[in-house]
Amino acid sequence: MNTQHNDWLSSGFKDAQLMQNLVNKITPLANELHQQLGRPVQIMEVCGGHTHTLFRYGINTLFERDIEFIHGPGCPVCVLPREVIDQCIAWLTNDTCILASFGDAIRVPGTTMSLQQARAQGRRVEVVYSPLDALNLAKKNPDKEVIFLAIGFDTTMPSTALTVLQAAAQNVTNFSVYPVHITLIPTLKVVLGDSSIMLDGLIGPGHVSMVIGTKPYDFIANEYGLPFVVAGFEPLDVLQSLYMLLVQKKQMLAGAGARVENQYARAVLTHGNANALRAMAQVYTPQSKSIWQGLGANQEVGVTLQPEYNQFNAEFKFGAYQCERESTHLTPIYCDQVIMGKRSPSQCPNYGKTCTPQSPLGALMVSSEGACAAWYLYNGATV
Ligand code: SF4
Repeated sequence: MNTQHNDWLSSGFKDAQLMQNLVNKITPLANELHQQLGRPVQIMEVCGGHTHTLFRYGINTLFERDIEFIHGPGCPVCVLPREVIDQCIAWLTNDTCILASFGDAIRVPGTTMSLQQARAQGRRVEVVYSPLDALNLAKKNPDKEVIFLAIGFDTTMPSTALTVLQAAAQNVTNFSVYPVHITLIPTLKVVLGDSSIMLDGLIGPGHVSMVIGTKPYDFIANEYGLPFVVAGFEPLDVLQSLYMLLVQKKQMLAGAGARVENQYARAVLTHGNANALRAMAQVYTPQSKSIWQGLGANQEVGVTLQPEYNQFNAEFKFGAYQCERESTHLTPIYCDQVIMGKRSPSQCPNYGKTCTPQSPLGALMVSSEGACAAWYLYNGATV
C-alpha cells in the first residue's frame, strides 16, 4: 500500500484536507469540461450506495454548476415490481407459510398492501439479515414452509446460492427461495441502450464488482465509448473516482479512447470472486418472465434456479401468482423514469407530497439505497 493509501486508511477515507485537495483538482477540470462540452458533465452513479455518499457528504452540491449527477438503477429494492410483493402476500394466505425478507423489502408497496402491513394483519413475515438466517428459521419450524424473498444484484446472489446448496446438502425440505435477484450487466445494457439517456461517464458499483470483477464492464468502454470507474463508498473514494472520470473525459476529448478503471482496488479484482461466481453458475439460470421496475421485461436481467434445485424454488413448489402482471400499472410512472435516470426525484410531482418515507408510493422512497429516499433524507420535502 502506498503512502497516499496509508493516509487515506488512517483517516477512515474521510480526511478533510485530502478531500479538499481532490475538490481543488476537480473544480477547474469540471469547469473546463463544461466549457468544452457546452453543457454540464453528466455522470451516472450506478449504485444507490454512491447516491447516498454524494448526498450525505454534500458532494452533489460542490460542483453543481459543472457536473450533473444522474442516479442509476443499482438499488435492488427500487427495481422490485409490485407483483413480487403481491406474490409473497398470496403465499402468505396459507397459514403454514413464513415469509423471510430483508428489512427494506417489507415496506415496498404491493397492490393492496406491503409485507409490513400483511404482518400487522397477522401474516408471518420475519426480517432476516441473511439467507442463512432464513434456512435456520426453517430448521427451527419444521411444521412450517419458510420462503426467503431473495432480492439483490450480483452482490447478494452468491449468499442465496450457497444457502440453496446448503439446504440441498442438509436435505431441508421446508425451505425455499423466491428468486427475484437481478444481474447488473444486462441491466446496464438496458440503460445504455436507451438513446434518451446522455452520459459522459459512470461511477461503477463497488459491491457488485467485488463479486463479478471489472472485466465484465469492458463493453461499456469498447462499445459505448464511455469512461467507467469502479468506486468504493467513502467520500474520498467517490471524489477520486470522479476525478479519474473527468481526467479520462478530457483525454477522450483530445482523441484518446475510453477505458475501465478500478478505484476500489483494495476490494475489487479484475476477475472477481471465483468461488462466488462458481456458486452462482451452479445454482442460477437467466430468466425473462419478470417485469422490472423501470427496465420492463428483459431477456436476461433476472434469474431463476436451475431445474435441479426446483424443490427449493418457491415458484415451482407453490405455484406462481396467477395475476402477476395486473398490478404494474399502479406503480407511478415517475418511478420508472427516476430509476432510468431520466428524471430526478424532485421532478416527480408526488415527491414530498403524496410520497414520503412514512407513506411511500414507490420503492425508491423506501430503500436505504433509493434515490428518492436520499433526496428526502438530505433535502427534506421541498427541493
Ligand atoms: S417520489 Fe415516490 S412516486 Fe415519485 S419517483 Fe420517487 S418513489 Fe416514485
